Order: sequence, then C-alpha cells, then structure tokens
Amino acid sequence: MTPEAERKMQFLFALRSRGVTDNRVLQAMETVDRAAFIRHYFTDRAYEDMPLPIACGQTISQPSVVGLMTQALNVSSRDKVLEVGTGSGYQAAVLSQLARRVYTVDRHMRLVREAREVFDGMGLVNITAFTADGSHGLPDQAPFDRIIVTAAAEDPPGPLLAQLKIGGIMVLPVGQSDAVQRLIRVTRSETGFDYDELRPVRFVPLVEGLGRDS
Ligand code: SAH
Repeated sequence: MTPEAERKMQFLFALRSRGVTDNRVLQAMETVDRAAFIRHYFTDRAYEDMPLPIACGQTISQPSVVGLMTQALNVSSRDKVLEVGTGSGYQAAVLSQLARRVYTVDRHMRLVREAREVFDGMGLVNITAFTADGSHGLPDQAPFDRIIVTAAAEDPPGPLLAQLKIGGIMVLPVGQSDAVQRLIRVTRSETGFDYDELRPVRFVPLVEGLGRDS
C-alpha cells in the first residue's frame, strides 16, 4: 500500500472509531482533501484527528467533529444548506458533496477569499461564500433545509431559527466561549423547535460584526 493510501485508511479508521459511521459522510470526507484547506505550517498533520490553526486566529475543526456534525445534519441531495463560519472552507466542501447547494459565510473577508480559491481549484461549483455576519443568517437566500454553525453562541441565534424550514435541522455548539460547549441539534416542526444534545465540544466564539480585515 502506498503511504498516501495508508494515511487515508487511517484517517477513515479514526473517523469510524469516533462515531462517524454514515457511509455517505465517510465517502465525502475521503473525497475532499483536508490538506488543501491548511495553507500554513501544518499540512503534514492534515490527516490527524485534531483541530489546526488557520489565518485570522481561527481554527479548522477536528475531522471527527466535522464528520459528527455532518452526520447529525442528515443532509440529502435536494437540500439547500447554510454554514455560518467558513473558516478554511473544509466543512463547506464536505457538505457540498452531499447537498444541492451550500451557502457559507464568514466575518473575515480573507478567509472567504482563500476558501473560494480552494473551492474553485477543486471545481466545487455548488458552494457560494460570502463575507457577512452570519448571526443574522442570510435573509436573501432563506429559508434553508439545513443550517450548521461552526462557532459557539450562548444560544441559537433567533434569525437562524427563523430561517430554518419546517422539517429543517440545525446543528450548532452552544455555551460560553471559554468553557466546554454542548453540540445541539434543533429540528423545526409545524409547532415549534425540538432540541437534542449531542456531545460536548469546543469551538471559537461566534462574534458579532465583520472582522477587522473586512
Ligand atoms: N467550519 C470551519 C471552521 C470554522 S472556525 C472549517 O471547516 O474550517 C469558526 C469560524 O467562524 C471562524 O472562521 C470565524 O471567523 C467565524 N465566525 C465567528 N463569528 C462569526 C459570525 N458572526 N459570522 C460569520 N462567521 C463567524
């Protein structure tokens, strides 16, 4: 087996052993090369199950957390998805394999610009990335079948709840930024919202307004 193939096998094995069992999600994560989203010093660690630093003081999430969030979102090929927190673009690229259309927003213009370059290089034509404060959602493109937030707020932002379709699912971390947060799944029904708690996680905070580089 080539070192490349072996690394990929270990990557998938690590995902499975941490609870990512949905074959469509595993296949999407096998297809999208995480190394392409890590521009700086850590590309040799791209296939390890750890978060890594990216530009603007942010982080690319741990692969198993990307896998578990994607799995919890239960995306179908008809779905229009909103991601708040583009970061490196990796999570959006994984979603693009499963959804019809992905909108992703980040408050840092530089991150959006760099992520777009990677999407273009990979030919991921169903992703649209914007610089915006995602705590307001994306009213022009709403409503969404699925919403994923990859930065932690104290509570699910009201505009995001409002932009979720009936039957839609939102997955997000909630809690104080300097403490362990809880990953929750919100499902919108005809009559309201159902919440279930998935696991403890740790994300950078959801910050209001645009980044200083924007
Ligand atoms: N999903 C990313 C990781 C995200 S890190 C990946 O796959 O690499 C969290 C991101 O959320 C950061 O890039 C940060 O800039 C962004 N963010 C924080 N608050 C935000 C807000 N209000 N609106 C949009 N993006 C926000």
